[in-house]
Amino acid sequence: MSPRPRIAIVIPVFNEEAVLPELFRRLDTIFASRPREEWITVFTNDGSRDRSGALLAARAAAVPGTRVLEFSRNFGHQSALAAGLAHAADADATVTMDADMQDPPELIPQLVDAWLGGAETVLAVRRSRQEAGLRRAGFEAFHAFFGRLTDFPIENNTGTFGLLNRAAVEAFNSLPEKHRFFPGLRAWIGFTHAEISYDRQERAAGQPAQTLRRLVRYALDGVFSFSYLPLRLLTYCGLCVALLGFTAGLYFVAKRLLGYETAVTGFTTLAILVLFLGGVQLIGIGVLGEYLGRVYDEVKRRPNYIIRRKTGCD
Ligand code: UDP
Ligand code: MG
Repeated sequence: MSPRPRIAIVIPVFNEEAVLPELFRRLDTIFASRPREEWITVFTNDGSRDRSGALLAARAAAVPGTRVLEFSRNFGHQSALAAGLAHAADADATVTMDADMQDPPELIPQLVDAWLGGAETVLAVRRSRQEAGLRRAGFEAFHAFFGRLTDFPIENNTGTFGLLNRAAVEAFNSLPEKHRFFPGLRAWIGFTHAEISYDRQERAAGQPAQTLRRLVRYALDGVFSFSYLPLRLLTYCGLCVALLGFTAGLYFVAKRLLGYETAVTGFTTLAILVLFLGGVQLIGIGVLGEYLGRVYDEVKRRPNYIIRRKTGCD
């Protein structure tokens, strides 16, 4: 490591013109207070349709150490993050955070200090969060349930915000997969981690760029890319139903052989059984489809993103 460690801040940006000026200001304050580190920022403009691109270009022209990757269209938060990390490989440590200041930039020095203290990765853990209603319920359900059901459980209440050392960034960059779920991959690559807790803020301005639908898809990626449990559950469910069917069959055959009348009633039972089993089978096909679709996406080997223009990268 160089005597003056180089720290990169990777920030995905999608329609954030309302927050960028304040973000720049707050980052500058932090950089000024830490002259012993060399600071670079890697912004990914993920196909913004507002003035974010112009604001980032102006910043890159004015502030040395600013890198801007401009996507050819909107590829999504995860791709933007992956692109940023791919262009931060020369940093000794890399902080990943959102642009909207829900992850307070003032926490960055603490993350860096934890890393200087020997941690290979540092997780920012939310003590509290400001979201309300359906969004909040969704986040909580995910962390209480889905986040644990995978083979590499993600730390409770962690998200994108955190720090990776150079080796961890290299490990992350070497992963070829398309459906990326950053917190899960961070758990998967291993390394020791330290935790810093913080209060998650309200978005500084503007609307969440991640729609609820996207968040649901993101959560599903988290489950399907890290767990075979849905498939296993189906197997168990199938076994139970088969066992039940077998027992019921034995019962009816025995009854018939012993000479009891089997009256031709039982339409309700039949209808329920047919509908129930039909439903279970459709769910089964759906779950298979989730895996198969992901396999298809990987096999196509399309890149995760396309960069139209790079500024500030050598
Ligand atoms: N973002 C992005 N591409 C997208 C959606 C979001 O780069 O398609 C960025 C966004 O600018 C922000 C971060 O990803 O910096 C998180 O987005 P948001 O705040 O909307 O998500 P949430 O806080 O609800 O997870
Ligand atoms: Mg946000």
